[in-house]
Amino acid sequence: MASPIIKIDAISKSFGALKVLDDLSMQVMPGEKLALIGPSGSGKTTILRILMTLERIDGGHIEIDGEQLYHMQKNGGELVPADERHLARMRRKIGMVFQLFNLFPHKSVLDNVTLAPMLTQKMPREAAEKRAMELLDMVGMADKAKNMPSQLSGGQKQRVAIARALALSPRIMLFDEVTSALDPELVEEVLNVMRRLAEETDMTMLLVTHEMGFAHDFADRVLFFDRGRIVEEGAPDDIFRNPKQERTQSFLRKII
Ligand code: ADP
Repeated sequence: MASPIIKIDAISKSFGALKVLDDLSMQVMPGEKLALIGPSGSGKTTILRILMTLERIDGGHIEIDGEQLYHMQKNGGELVPADERHLARMRRKIGMVFQLFNLFPHKSVLDNVTLAPMLTQKMPREAAEKRAMELLDMVGMADKAKNMPSQLSGGQKQRVAIARALALSPRIMLFDEVTSALDPELVEEVLNVMRRLAEETDMTMLLVTHEMGFAHDFADRVLFFDRGRIVEEGAPDDIFRNPKQERTQSFLRKII
C-alpha cells in the first residue's frame, strides 16, 4: 500500500484572534485529485498557502513526500523552518496557481514559463524554452509565446500560469479558485486544461473551487470545510448527491 504524499496532522493556524484552522488533519495519496469546498472563510485557501510555505502554522505537523515540511523549532511561539534550503527544496515539489493572475507583467509569456527552471534548477535556456513550448502547447498558448501578459485575456493568463507552475515538474499541484476572477465565457477554457491535466498526468492535485460541477467531475474525493474543520468528506457522488451532514446540505442547497 502506497503511503500518503501529503500528511497533515493536527495543524492549527490563527490570524491574530481569528482561529482559521482548528486541529485539522488530512491525508492525500499520490496521484489523488482532491476538491476542497465550503463557505468563504472556512480556511481552504489557507491550507494551500501553508502547503506552499506562504503561511506558517502555529502547531501540528505536515509531511510532504515523506519529509517534514517544517522542523519543530519554536521562535516566539511560531513554528519556523529550521533551514531555508530545506524549505526551498520542499517548495519545489509543489506548484500553485492562484485566483488572480500573477504573471510577471514585464516578461513575455515564454519568459514567464522559463524563468523559474533557469533560476532555481539552473536549466540551460535552450532546454527551458523547449520544455516551456511543450507546456504552452499543452495549454493551447504556444502561439502567444512572444506576447506580453497585458495582451492576453484572463483565461489565457491563467492557462499560462498553469504552464508556468508545471515547468518545475512539481509532484503536487494546488489550484486556488483559478476561475473565480474570470468572465463566465472564459471559465471553460481554463477548466478544460485542468480536466486534461487531471486525466493525463499522475500528479497529485488539490483544488479549491466554487465550481461544484467541475469539482464533481475532477475530484476523486471531496472535502467539505466549515470554520477551519473538515465537516464531511467522500466520493463526489456521495457528497453532492447524498450529503450526510446538515451543514454540507445547507451549503450545497445555497450554492447549486
Ligand atoms: P477560504 O479559502 O475558505 O475562503 P481562507 O483560508 O482564505 O478561506 O480564509 C480563512 C479566514 O482567514 C478568513 O476569515 C480570512 O479573512 C482570514 N485570513 C486569511 N488570510 C489572512 C491574513 N493574511 N491575515 C488575516 N486574516 C486572514
